[in-house]
Amino acid sequence: MADKIKVMNPIVEMNGDEMTRIIWQFIKDKLIFPFLDIDLKYFDLGMRHRDDTDDQVTADAANAIKQYGVGVKCATITPNASRVKEYNLKQQWKSPNATIRSILDGTVFRKPIIIKNIPPGVRSWEKPIIIGRHAYGDIYKSAEIVADGPGTAELVFTPSSGGEKRIAHIHDFKGPGVIMGMHNTESSIRSFARACISNALSEKVDIWFGAKDTISKQYHGFFRDVFAEEIEKSKDALQNAGVQYRYMLIDDAVAQVMKSEGGMLWACMNYDGDVMSDMIASGFGSLGLMTSVLVSPDGKFEFEAAHGTVMRHYYEHLKGNPTSTNSIASIFAWTGAIAKRGELDNTPQVVKFAHTVERVVIETVEHGTMTKDLMRIAEPRISKYALTEEFIDAVVERLKKSSGN
Ligand code: NAP
Ligand code: MG
Repeated sequence: MADKIKVMNPIVEMNGDEMTRIIWQFIKDKLIFPFLDIDLKYFDLGMRHRDDTDDQVTADAANAIKQYGVGVKCATITPNASRVKEYNLKQQWKSPNATIRSILDGTVFRKPIIIKNIPPGVRSWEKPIIIGRHAYGDIYKSAEIVADGPGTAELVFTPSSGGEKRIAHIHDFKGPGVIMGMHNTESSIRSFARACISNALSEKVDIWFGAKDTISKQYHGFFRDVFAEEIEKSKDALQNAGVQYRYMLIDDAVAQVMKSEGGMLWACMNYDGDVMSDMIASGFGSLGLMTSVLVSPDGKFEFEAAHGTVMRHYYEHLKGNPTSTNSIASIFAWTGAIAKRGELDNTPQVVKFAHTVERVVIETVEHGTMTKDLMRIAEPRISKYALTEEFIDAVVERLKKSSGN
């Protein structure tokens, strides 16, 4: 085998849980270590180790991404009540992704992988639709009250400067009801807009942003205005790259996206991004084909698959049954991180390796080797699916041939 390619600076590696943890090891042993001389800063975000360290390991990993600039993360369990029992946890720890996002203050971009023989459910989609989800605030950091009877609900803002309180009347309840107060910050919206601009420039795609400013004149209107200001500041760079900006009502954006051929970055408010990314992922075929990257305003990157730990397959695996779990999004998390590392280090050989692996993965599927989730939707149909490890082995075989080893 030829010499390994040297990766100049470290990548932060975060291990995870269940079926994706098993896939993770295959990827490292078969696709990474044999080809790259790489220094991985390892953090075990598996459920047990998070519990053992009182979740300190998650914060440590996020801080390491701040230090080194690039991280790659395996899917992890977000504990709920039944997981607390299953793993006998000290407490119901927070979602590691939420912890990492709040430390890096990032925007999450989700992008589907396009493969010729896996046609999208939406026939007009030919190019990836990238979702940029603002990952701070709105209903995800809200205060809620269930009103148990008649009463008055008000919104109150008390300036720290000692200025006068501002009060907005919400509703006079005649009977029981429910109330929510939510917020966002100008600085977070600005960094969201800037992250979208820099992602669109690097992907060379137009930016679409949708909100409901006809109804929410102040809240959604604020998003629209701050976004437009940031676009204006980057006008020259956008023009030079041929990147256009469109603001639409969110319902219009949904309709336009469905009719489009794709090939845009769709900037979404937090809730819209949460919902729409699942719609886009299923529209393109499989959760196993959706990649995800968290980009911080100061240019730090964390790559992962958009799907979870694929628990159902893991329990089959534990019973000794064969599994057919799609490893493509996890492989692309690795290649995304490796390519970004190479780009930042200015080592084109490293970038090229990552892109070669991506091409080989796609070719493997296009030549008819794929896991069960893809077999169901492949066109033309194939007669036999690959097991989890068989698919990765087929990629390795093809990679060895393509790199002349
Ligand atoms: P999931 O892991 O995304 O899997 C849901 C279902 O989607 C699977 O049962 C499987 O369908 C299909 N699927 C997803 N990824 C697949 C792949 N790579 N290959 C083949 N099929 C795939 O969601 P979940 O089972 O609801 O959640 C499991 C755990 O993951 C939870 O503890 C949750 O907290 C965590 N989670 C983590 C992240 C993250 O770390 N980013 C994100 C989401 C969820 P079939 O069973 O029909 O084959
Ligand atoms: Mg969601």
